[in-house]
Amino acid sequence: MKTLKNFTCCNLKNKNMKTLKFHSLPVSAVILYMGFAYYSTIFIFIQDWLSLKSSAGLFNALVFSCLAFMCVVSFVSCVVTDPGHIPAHFVPEIEDGCVSELGSKRNSVNLNLRYCDKCSLHKPPRAHHCRVCKRCVLRMDHHCLWINNCVGFSNYKPFVLLIFYAAISCIYSMVVITSVALQKDREVIGWSYLKIFCITCGSITAVFCITLASLLVWHLYLLTHNMTTIEYHEGVRAKWLARKSGQSYHHPFDLGVYKNLIMILGPNKLKWLWPTAVGHLRDGISFPTSRGTP
Ligand SMILES: [Zn+2]
Ligand SMILES: [Zn+2]
Repeated sequence: MKTLKNFTCCNLKNKNMKTLKFHSLPVSAVILYMGFAYYSTIFIFIQDWLSLKSSAGLFNALVFSCLAFMCVVSFVSCVVTDPGHIPAHFVPEIEDGCVSELGSKRNSVNLNLRYCDKCSLHKPPRAHHCRVCKRCVLRMDHHCLWINNCVGFSNYKPFVLLIFYAAISCIYSMVVITSVALQKDREVIGWSYLKIFCITCGSITAVFCITLASLLVWHLYLLTHNMTTIEYHEGVRAKWLARKSGQSYHHPFDLGVYKNLIMILGPNKLKWLWPTAVGHLRDGISFPTSRGTP
């Protein structure tokens, strides 16, 4: 009975924590913008361009609605998914000859013995401490203000897909707005207001298109190299140091493009574009490397 009560309490606490994630100004701004972009694209621009009574108009509205739906699923998944925290029982693997260094954790030269002073925990490879979340996050990429969450091991796939669907939606919206603006045979009455609205929305959408497309290219680069943003910056320094000593540096978790994609998106290609299909993710503590460990 007591266990059931504890379980219910934990579940309620988790639900409250997830709801609290939405109590942030940037998250509210994203939700408001998504709602505005969806409404204006379908009920103002597609309606004006093709009319929602025509089959072409309905088809465009349906395609855009599907894209918007995928954006919402990815966004909610990014916000509510715990990016991954270090389990309390985590003990780093000690390589032979390093056992004596376990006591002096921070002095260890063994990479497996990374230690976080703030959390008082050993850090698994690829985990980093987030100053905003005030805890260590597994396979941390960065802390994202717009999702009020860290992007880490468990929510990297929905994050990449969020950028992917948002970029496509923005480009789609931009094409619709441009088509409305270029229509020649229209009545003069009311056009000036629509023109101003077209120019305003078109300018905002163009900025989003450029930003999201750049972000998508960046994360596709990271995805195909099995790298996080933090590891990219660490790699720049490691490459420089290696070059200085006449050696070459290779990112240890880069297993080749296809294997890297499988690691993040999953082995089933049919589920690659579905943000919540993350059943393939393991514990986020150990990762295969190009040297064959673990
Ligand atoms: Zn920490
Ligand atoms: Zn964070």
